Amino acid sequence: MKLGVSSCLIGTRCRYDGVGASDKFVVDVLQKYFQMVPYCPETIIWGSPRVAIRQVHDENGNLKIMTSTKEPMEVTKELEDISEICSNEIKDDDLCGFILKSASPTCGLERVKIYKPFNAPSVKQGIGVFAKKIKEKYPYLPIEEEGRLIDPWLRENFLMQIFAYSHLYEFLRAKPSFNDLVIFHTSYKYLIYAKSQKAYTTLGRIVANHEKEQLNEVLEKYEEEFLKAISLKGSVSKTYNVLLHIFGYFKKLISKEEKDEILQSLQEYKDRIIPLIAVIKLINLYVKRFDVAYLKSQKFLNPYPSELALRSEIKAYK
Ligand code: SF4
Repeated sequence: MKLGVSSCLIGTRCRYDGVGASDKFVVDVLQKYFQMVPYCPETIIWGSPRVAIRQVHDENGNLKIMTSTKEPMEVTKELEDISEICSNEIKDDDLCGFILKSASPTCGLERVKIYKPFNAPSVKQGIGVFAKKIKEKYPYLPIEEEGRLIDPWLRENFLMQIFAYSHLYEFLRAKPSFNDLVIFHTSYKYLIYAKSQKAYTTLGRIVANHEKEQLNEVLEKYEEEFLKAISLKGSVSKTYNVLLHIFGYFKKLISKEEKDEILQSLQEYKDRIIPLIAVIKLINLYVKRFDVAYLKSQKFLNPYPSELALRSEIKAYK
């Protein structure tokens, strides 16, 4: 699986000051699971080290990219052009997500500083030139900044989205039949429920295909709605409801003590006393014991490599 990344985040010495901005999570964790595809629009045109640049609003409110020098020079067109070229390359690189460098006038995804003329204070309202093009051209590609991925909730949601995104395209490339689509869709029931039941219902209508459309039309619609669904963020209460649904599959097969133990764990998860992984481990014991095939196929119970340990943090759920 390939992940696009602002090149400085993997330690490439491509910043304006000639150093990198190596990110521990990207380098130590994500590099084990993904092939990193680095992009650095600025270094392609200006090399490294180079003069720093910044976003500026001129007197008329027009956004310009200027060098941070005594006598600033405008470089808007150069940066726009190279960002256009780099963002077009993404199409052929077969990425399943992108991690951008925060605060950069080129790569920052949000809250990039925009300076005002005449030494007025800057405002953090901008988006990097390259980041903006990626968002416009690939609206459903999972994208985050390294700074936001410190938040365990955003991190868990982002990684879940990336793995589902990659799985969808692997599935579509395999030229699926209607029956394959039903199997794929069913396996995502609880993962999508944990984000939005409504989204799963919408997807279900597409799969049911009451209009008797051609397979390629159905798959096209399914792709778009699936990408929208996995971009939604989960919550504790929705996840708790999913856990209750899953519990329903074997609650009649177990003793009162076992039931009480599970329900207590669910409540402790809801009250944010124990992490989700503790409940999942317990549930998986019963799924295996009673060999519940329907649950075994559920992506919710196994959405990404467990070594990522994303569900081990209580703060991964809000
Ligand atoms: S933030 Fe983007 S443009 Fe700046 S050095 Fe890193 S990759 Fe290059």
